[in-house]
Amino acid sequence: MEKQKILVIEDEKPIAEILKYGFEKEGFEVFCAFTGARGLQAAQEKAPDLVLLDWMLPDISGVDVCRLLTEQRNIPILMLTARDNVEDKLYGLESGADDYVTKPFDLREVVARVHTILRRFERAQQAGGAAAGMEKTPDDLRNVPLVVSKEEHSVYRNGCPVGLTPREFDLLAYFVKHPRQVFTRTALLDQIWGYDYLGDTRTVDIHIQRLRKKADLSEQLVTVFGVGYKYVP
Ligand code: CA
Repeated sequence: MEKQKILVIEDEKPIAEILKYGFEKEGFEVFCAFTGARGLQAAQEKAPDLVLLDWMLPDISGVDVCRLLTEQRNIPILMLTARDNVEDKLYGLESGADDYVTKPFDLREVVARVHTILRRFERAQQAGGAAAGMEKTPDDLRNVPLVVSKEEHSVYRNGCPVGLTPREFDLLAYFVKHPRQVFTRTALLDQIWGYDYLGDTRTVDIHIQRLRKKADLSEQLVTVFGVGYKYVP
């Protein structure tokens, strides 16, 4: 079987080397780029399965690299950030990254995150492939305000397909399965991101905002002040 490829875009060479060593040991093929420009070039040449992207690069900001990468094609990105500022991390997620880790990091944690992201991505790709094979939205979906299809891993809002990330999909599917039930941010993190997820609860807020916007669910995904969120069909 062909090895999965990881592209590391990181200007601090010792960190890039630790990652290269760690992921090669895990059976991945690893390429390193030390600037944003070289990283974008390598992404085209090597067609990696996932990118580990540093936030602070000498030439282009990690956020811009992230945006340019995801414009090229649908590729999972794990951001590496030395910044402790939550706003920056959330900005990273908004610009298309799937997840982030804070430096200094534990190599095992980065490896675990990468495996999780790749698994989710593969699942979404398979489902997306199936959905893409459909000629058009089935007639019977047109009059249903919201369809969340686990089988197809796809969402239709008023008959139109809505493009969601795997995490957004899981979150919405969870709400739809439990209508009118209030969930705290922590409960949602545990349920959707998993108990080992080390991110903070603001991540949930960002995903809710994106769901409201993408799927036009501002009135359905309700904030319960001081508690969390609920879905009202
Ligand atoms: Ca850096």
